[in-house]
Amino acid sequence: MKDNTIRMAVCPLCGRTYHSAPALSRTDNKTLICPDCGTRQALQSIGVDADEQEQIIKTIHRHTQE
Ligand SMILES: [Zn+2]
Repeated sequence: MKDNTIRMAVCPLCGRTYHSAPALSRTDNKTLICPDCGTRQALQSIGVDADEQEQIIKTIHRHTQE
């Protein structure tokens, strides 16, 4: 069954409430996390350090919240 309501979910990693499509955690491949944490894990996996991860996420937000 498919519904079109916006689902709210709480990210277990950062505790933030989000309502966009969740990302799958790379650490266990079953936990659903928020898109930001999904981005962080993806960046971390290619060797981007924490400061740069936050910069990239801020940039993504600037472009998606307009
Ligand atoms: Zn999160």
